[in-house]
Amino acid sequence: MHVDIDIRVAFSAIFTFLMIALFFCAVKGFRSNRRIGRAVGWLDLSLLPPMIGNIIIIGSSVEIRSLVGEYIFSLGMNGVLVALVNFTDIYCSGMGNGQQKPTAVYIVLAADFVQVLANIFFGHAFDLEPVMVQDKTYFRVVPHWGQYLHRTVDYAVFFCVILIFLLASVKTSRLFREKFTMLLASMIVLSIWQTFYVFSRTPVDRSMIGYGVVGILVFYLSLYHRPMRLLDRTLSNIVSEMSEALFIYDPTGKCIWANEKGLELTGASIKRLDDIPASLSKKFGEREYGVDAWSDNKVIVSGGSEKYYYIENRPVNDDKNNLGGSVLIIRDNTEEQLRLKRELYNSIHDSLTGLYTKQYLYECIRGMLDGAPDTDFVAVFVDVKNFKIVNDIFSSSFGDLALKQIAAWIKADMNEKCVYGRLAGDTFGVFMPAEQFENDRERLENELANFTVSDGNASHHLVMHLGVYETADRDIDVSVMFDRAHLALSTITDDYNNHIAYYDNDLREKILWEQRITAELREAIDTMQLRPYLQPITDRNGRVVGAEALARWIHPVHGFMPPSMFIPVFEKNGMITEVDKHMWRCACKILSKWKECGRDLFISVNISPKDFYFIDVVSEIKSLVDEYGIDPIRLRIEITETVMMNDPEERMKVLDDFRRLGFIVEMDDFGSGYSSLNLLKDMPVDVLKIDMRFLSASGSKERAKTIVKNIIRLSEELDISSLTEGVETEKQYQHLSLMGCKLFQGYYFAKPLPQDEFEQFADNGKEK
Ligand code: C2E
Ligand code: MG
Ligand code: MG
Repeated sequence: MHVDIDIRVAFSAIFTFLMIALFFCAVKGFRSNRRIGRAVGWLDLSLLPPMIGNIIIIGSSVEIRSLVGEYIFSLGMNGVLVALVNFTDIYCSGMGNGQQKPTAVYIVLAADFVQVLANIFFGHAFDLEPVMVQDKTYFRVVPHWGQYLHRTVDYAVFFCVILIFLLASVKTSRLFREKFTMLLASMIVLSIWQTFYVFSRTPVDRSMIGYGVVGILVFYLSLYHRPMRLLDRTLSNIVSEMSEALFIYDPTGKCIWANEKGLELTGASIKRLDDIPASLSKKFGEREYGVDAWSDNKVIVSGGSEKYYYIENRPVNDDKNNLGGSVLIIRDNTEEQLRLKRELYNSIHDSLTGLYTKQYLYECIRGMLDGAPDTDFVAVFVDVKNFKIVNDIFSSSFGDLALKQIAAWIKADMNEKCVYGRLAGDTFGVFMPAEQFENDRERLENELANFTVSDGNASHHLVMHLGVYETADRDIDVSVMFDRAHLALSTITDDYNNHIAYYDNDLREKILWEQRITAELREAIDTMQLRPYLQPITDRNGRVVGAEALARWIHPVHGFMPPSMFIPVFEKNGMITEVDKHMWRCACKILSKWKECGRDLFISVNISPKDFYFIDVVSEIKSLVDEYGIDPIRLRIEITETVMMNDPEERMKVLDDFRRLGFIVEMDDFGSGYSSLNLLKDMPVDVLKIDMRFLSASGSKERAKTIVKNIIRLSEELDISSLTEGVETEKQYQHLSLMGCKLFQGYYFAKPLPQDEFEQFADNGKEK
């Protein structure tokens, strides 16, 4: 091949130009202060030595100079490859899985560098031979094995780099692929170009021009290139596929573009954008579409369904702040609005019955009270008795059905002057004018008496009660009104004839009383306002053998209070246990005093059925007798039949425990409840207390006598001794003695007495 001398000069000029350009690129790269910038800087700088080497080779006709040029070129190529590998590592980072540092590659290149350099001493890599090119001598390389090794290393590294770029361009997103493919293509071209020179042994290697160009391309792609075309396409795709309708207007207010949704909404085509303003005005009303900034919500009703739209017009300014047009966005909000409506509905309606929730009902009631100051209202608390049983016996789905039917029943007779809702599981609240309720009262009583729920197969009669609070005090909390209506329910005792109860002054007084004495109980115990009175228990000869401790409250304001004034209250609220513990302790104290003075009597204490729920009665009493050093036989335990009603097996164990510890267990008020003679045979009790009053109240005196006589006989046969209480006359006493009764208690002997009076009485009795 002929190489013209002008071409040599021309190439030298091109190389010089490229070198200057690369140098500036390198400086810019370093200045960018980014990692990739520095990698580009090193790559572009590394290209300078082989280029200089190439210029020397091209321009030289002297062997030694050509040789220097060849060394600079060959060794410089290893520098280029080091910089290229480093650049590739950074440029393609994130594309591989857990990239490793290419240290091994650097080592190989360094070894090759040394090997080529050793050619100075061993001449194993290459020699130069003179070639005449148009009258001028040009020295070209005669390769030996060292040079082949060098080329193999360089090619291998270069192809690895190409491979990495290939992988990166496959893996990256469409948007960024261009960044890799451009470099990949240029490197492939470059490698072919270089190969051509290597194998054709053409004297002037022009492929270095390609290196220079790649160096500049690397600089541009790494630091300045943004794939604008793809970006534009991607953005316009996004906008076209947006769920909002989008219209773009020029600064004069003319529609110049609409996305798919926009065309669909207006029924226009992209070729007839002029139809859009008219279509928008028809659909959403006359407005300045495409001018100024504004936004609006629109509801469009068509064919019975509602559609909600949010419309926004936004002016768009260019970078010099001149109006560049505007964007009109129309969003179909229907789903969101319907969801909000649904959520609002759910937040104020009970999901099962569809009635208002408690909170919302209370809000409405407050509004009604404020809005109608002259109307008297009633708050009605609707309660289903034993609703749990409905769920248990039938099923919870039947229970749900029952609640829905109750809700429907409540709803049926309501008008706009009433509000109603579900208060809790099986309770409902109604608020209505008092007059309306009174007019409906009779009908309601009838309906309540016959209220039945049915699912087509099973039907069940539901007992429902209404508690009514007349809103005399309108300022109290609505919840308190319903609390009071609820309290009224406690006065309904007869489930069958009476279903409606009112919160009235008596009830109010009763509740206040209960609250007051409950609050005062602690102090009453501490100050001994609450104390035991002792009612003597005598034997057949009238001799006092013991006493029953009965609670009395000597109140500083209300005076002497019998247990009927407070025991039921405390039984209801659970405070009875406090009373009992106090009474047991007092009894123990008295017994311990009697022990000291040699008074050989016992005391019976009462145990409420409730105590068994709250405390371990046995250990409580046992620790008391231990504390006071009393023989358990002196403290008798009175339990009632009702104790045995719940969990009889467990209770029998408790009674056994008492007896094993040496206590005497008495069954109190036998005959008052559902006395089961059957139960008696299994019951671990020592004494049966038969209450005369209960027996004489039911039926004739003769029958009562017969019953008592037989109970006494039966108990004797069962080895249980009998004690008759409520003995009021001498006749009763004599009869009972004849029947075999051993112990007696009653007004005939003495009423419950304060401790000192009792002691006197007992002493006198002894004297009898
Ligand atoms: P109880 O345990 O059956 O006590 C006997 C009740 O009959 C006492 O009424 C007594 O005063 C009364 N009584 C005794 N003899 C006669 C009589 O001949 N005729 C009439 N009409 N009544 C007579 P009290 O003291 O009013 O006690 C009533 C009930 O209160 C007691 O019935 C007992 O169940 C309960 N109670 C009294 N004190 C306590 C206590 O400390 N704890 C517990 N849990 N209950 C107590
Ligand atoms: Mg008793
Ligand atoms: Mg009794």
